Amino acid sequence: MDGQIVIIGAGQAGTQTAEALRSGGYTGAITMLGDEPHGPYHRPPLSKAWLAGDIGEAQLVMRAPEMLAKKGITLRTGVTVEAIDRAAHQVRLAGGETLAYTGLVLATGSTPRSLPLPGIGAPNVLPLRSKDDASAIATRLTACAERSLPVLVIGGGFIGLEVAATARKKGLAVTVLEAAPRLLGRVLAPLLSDWYAALHREHGINLVLDARIASIETDAAGEATAVLMADGSRHPCGLVVLGVGVTANDRLAAAAGLACDRGIVVDDCTRTADPLIVAAGDCTARQLADGSLLRLESVQNATEQGKSAAAALLGQPRPFTATPWFWSDQYDRKLQMAGLSGGADAWAVRGDMGGDMAAGAAFSIYHFRAGKLIAVDSVNSAKDHLQARKLLDAGVSPTPEQAADGGFDLGTLIPKG
Ligand code: FAD
Repeated sequence: MDGQIVIIGAGQAGTQTAEALRSGGYTGAITMLGDEPHGPYHRPPLSKAWLAGDIGEAQLVMRAPEMLAKKGITLRTGVTVEAIDRAAHQVRLAGGETLAYTGLVLATGSTPRSLPLPGIGAPNVLPLRSKDDASAIATRLTACAERSLPVLVIGGGFIGLEVAATARKKGLAVTVLEAAPRLLGRVLAPLLSDWYAALHREHGINLVLDARIASIETDAAGEATAVLMADGSRHPCGLVVLGVGVTANDRLAAAAGLACDRGIVVDDCTRTADPLIVAAGDCTARQLADGSLLRLESVQNATEQGKSAAAALLGQPRPFTATPWFWSDQYDRKLQMAGLSGGADAWAVRGDMGGDMAAGAAFSIYHFRAGKLIAVDSVNSAKDHLQARKLLDAGVSPTPEQAADGGFDLGTLIPKG
């Protein structure tokens, strides 16, 4: 098969698409363009094992450039795509070079949000998305440790809490400021939010909920020295980590006239309205059967949409509709989430949530809507998580009583074969 498939973005989704094109039999040229100076690497460890110093650089590498070259995938790093010309079937790079395509993959990821606060531009107020961001945070953590300065995390979402846990493991004083009345309020059941709040407090985090930040105080050199609250209180710090969510990188697509709504709008098979253009990963908003849009920011979504993007370009549409899943590591607790818990009206707990956090509780929370299982969040319970994915994929529901009964084998409900 001749042609030139151009992939914008050399991250999880871009790499998966390139490799799936090859394994799907595509023999034409594949060029993957990434604006970072690095080849494809894993982002999840940036807030966890890598930041903690438990793994090294080599373990971040997703695919070495030589591996890609062996598969006939041309990787160009440090290259920014500035525009897509859909009529001419080409992309324009910074510097003016143009590249023709017979198929185009948008895998541009997302960008951390900022906050409109005085002092937000200080050099020690840092977001966490890239390897370079993580290196900057690691350097600042070391400086904080040397000078006994506290770390301040704005945002009690997954990335903020993982960084907070890692900084505590390093012995630093950490404050987390969360604007909402509970942690991870958009994704966790209230009792699990409370459990995570207790876990972090037990590990010594100063957790402030309903936090109203007024400004970031800076010194004569422009460095952030404290976060000032609307109630007049002041949190001194040597580093501020911003973990307040991301926005999809859909600017190129929107400028090229493709439908975007907080992400590039795609169908189950990652197709846009342009038959030559697909999109995968964090940059997308997937249109569901009821017309609503689903935005997911996860490794699973980037990987599966990458496979679907390749299949669509090969003319073999492959819908990705499997149950979404996600994980987060905080201290020695692995949270694994299956399904989407929004709109749950009842919950059942399986296992022991434990009064004593240090004792190593293992449990799962089953979310129900109108009596139907819609999601399961498991803490240190890999078996429950794997079973949950099977139950949700099959559309099978235990009753809340069965879910809560540790003696009842939920595996018996999973259809065979
Ligand atoms: P990315 O991996 O971000 O790749 C997109 C690439 O495109 C980037 O390199 C970007 O710079 C580049 N790009 C953008 N625009 C252009 C352009 N115009 N020209 C050229 N290149 C461009 N997910 C989980 O499931 N579990 C976790 O525990 C987890 N932990 C995480 C921890 C951290 C710190 C972070 C940052 C993310 C984490 N995630 C986790 C999310 C997961 O890493 C992302 O969902 C996934 O990387 C998305 O892949 P992607 O290919 O869509 O985007």
